[in-house]
Amino acid sequence: MQDTVRVIPLGGVNEVGKNMIAIEYGDEIIIADCGLAFPEDDMLGVDLLIPDITYLRQTPKKVVGYVISHGHEDHIGGLAYILREINAPVWATPLTCGLIEVKLKDSRLLGEMELHTFRDGDTVQVGGFTVEPFTVSHSIPDAVGLAITCPAGTVVYTGDFKFDQTPADGRRSNFARIAAIGGRGVLALLSDCVHVETEGHTPSEQVVTETFRKVFARAEGRIIIATFASLIARVQQAITVAEEYGRKVAVVGRSLEKNVAIALELGYLRASPGTLVTPQQLSQEDGGRAVLIVTGSQGEPTSVLNRIANQDHRYVKLRKGDTVIVSATPIPGNETAVSRIINSLFKQGANVIYSSIERVHVSGHASSEELLLMLNLTNPKYAVPIHGETRHLVRYKQLAISAGMPPEHVVIPENGGVMEFGP
Ligand SMILES: [Zn+2]
Ligand SMILES: [Zn+2]
Repeated sequence: MQDTVRVIPLGGVNEVGKNMIAIEYGDEIIIADCGLAFPEDDMLGVDLLIPDITYLRQTPKKVVGYVISHGHEDHIGGLAYILREINAPVWATPLTCGLIEVKLKDSRLLGEMELHTFRDGDTVQVGGFTVEPFTVSHSIPDAVGLAITCPAGTVVYTGDFKFDQTPADGRRSNFARIAAIGGRGVLALLSDCVHVETEGHTPSEQVVTETFRKVFARAEGRIIIATFASLIARVQQAITVAEEYGRKVAVVGRSLEKNVAIALELGYLRASPGTLVTPQQLSQEDGGRAVLIVTGSQGEPTSVLNRIANQDHRYVKLRKGDTVIVSATPIPGNETAVSRIINSLFKQGANVIYSSIERVHVSGHASSEELLLMLNLTNPKYAVPIHGETRHLVRYKQLAISAGMPPEHVVIPENGGVMEFGP
């Protein structure tokens, strides 16, 4: 028996996207997340990027399972490609399982794989590893962090998180369980760090709900809300406020429609009967006061918002007096496309509201104080920032040192680099 555990990021560090971490003890490997990334502007001809699994290919039998933190593409998108080569059981929470099933159905892998459900409070055995998922707040429901224990100790993988005390779906982070895991002793904390540059606390989703109320109260015509297809929390906020103001809601955009259907079916989205209608169902009079939730907050060329702005959407035509809310912050690189759309919407007589003028978006990631709270609750011997570019990793290291971590106990990881931790 060796008394060390090896942690090997295969993607997701010194970059944002394609998160995947191998945790190896003895002759077993457990994988935390399996995501994809979208190409940069200069990667011509590249559709998407997946983690480099060369290391796993050498000994595919070692992999005892995948444990997944939440249903965003940068955490589940690689499964459809990587499971073909490294097939092992996958564990995830119910909503995440639903989203994974859709992906695997698309790639016809569904029959050949083993998908298991776990939830906050469970303790599951994956090979020789004991895995304890704990609820964390994020911009998609049913997100968990994972405590993964082997004889060498416990590794805590936070997944993407923030500590929202008033989340849109009412599911707060499980502070008690995180503290209990910390109390037992944590060898290494692998922490989300992408929002470390923002000081203090990330505002609660409740802030966005309040802005929606303000906008809904003064809007005369229709309200069109553009957001990420995976931002189920934002869809819930729009539905909740629409119901308060007696407006009907239609969801437009293939990816968004799919995600909303799964979330409704599994109970992660709530709407009163009659609130949600198809865009075609909107009668003339309802149509004048309808709320449309659409894709395209990042200016994507094929998105509904871009088509509306270009006046070439099949059935959604902008009317004078419509209010358009762009409920997201442009990801670096997308600013020009988003700005072009906003200009075009204004030109057509819409009232456009976006993140630099009103609080219509909050991040799903922890700011510095929340990162410190996670660090102090888990009280690890070693800390490793993940899910960030180099600048975020370095800033996290400085932050952890400021909270008393010895500098040599905070490790800046590299994709493919091996970290070995022992008591
Ligand atoms: Zn995420
Ligand atoms: Zn992520």
